[in-house]
Amino acid sequence: MRLLVAQCTHDFLVRGVVRFDHERIKDDADFVALAGEGTIMVTIETGKQASRYQGIVPIGSRSLSASLEHYFENSEQLPTRVILGADNFGTAGLLVQRMPSHGGVAGEDVDFEVQADRTFSAASEAIAGVQSDELLFRSAEELMRRTFSGLDLRIHDSCAVGFRCRCSTERVEGMLRSLGATEVEAIVAERGEVTVTCEFCRKPWSFDAVDVSRLFGAAADQAPGSSAVN
Ligand SMILES: [Zn+2]
Repeated sequence: MRLLVAQCTHDFLVRGVVRFDHERIKDDADFVALAGEGTIMVTIETGKQASRYQGIVPIGSRSLSASLEHYFENSEQLPTRVILGADNFGTAGLLVQRMPSHGGVAGEDVDFEVQADRTFSAASEAIAGVQSDELLFRSAEELMRRTFSGLDLRIHDSCAVGFRCRCSTERVEGMLRSLGATEVEAIVAERGEVTVTCEFCRKPWSFDAVDVSRLFGAAADQAPGSSAVN
């Protein structure tokens, strides 16, 4: 496996792409065998380029869940337990995390810290007994009630997780602009059009000679030093 990318938005819309060598992949290979000596890069974006955060974790001999726990421990300084499950029909995950300190009144802080430590350690012990295949066949609510039965539990409304790709005409046009007029026009001259296939959803975005001349004509019209992103 050469590359695995998974993206999730704040409203649980996901997309992903994987590149691997079909010939060499074995059915029973686990994540560590597939990833080899790779690294996991966790990037959190808030929509503004300036507030992008990136953390890098070597995989080593760790599973995907252990690598993610390592990321939270080192990058966010939040003790975290992660269990993941997957089969040919779906994937599921369970994450337990100690609440971060809230910075209130000094006396209350001590109480909060003690309580948070105690609750996290009870919850960590509770999920140690959860098997990853249980995540797949039990509903989230049933799993929560069974696992954390001794804790003060509040179950919030669930949100559906769905697929959505963020590819758009604007993004593909931006990519073609960065390739440059000479290269894009050469492709159109040879094939009659230029097609960019989205790696996430496989949607083909095609641009013919008229589209391309509009694209680069518009770019040429921009005043020098304009703030447009190319
Ligand atoms: Zn797409």
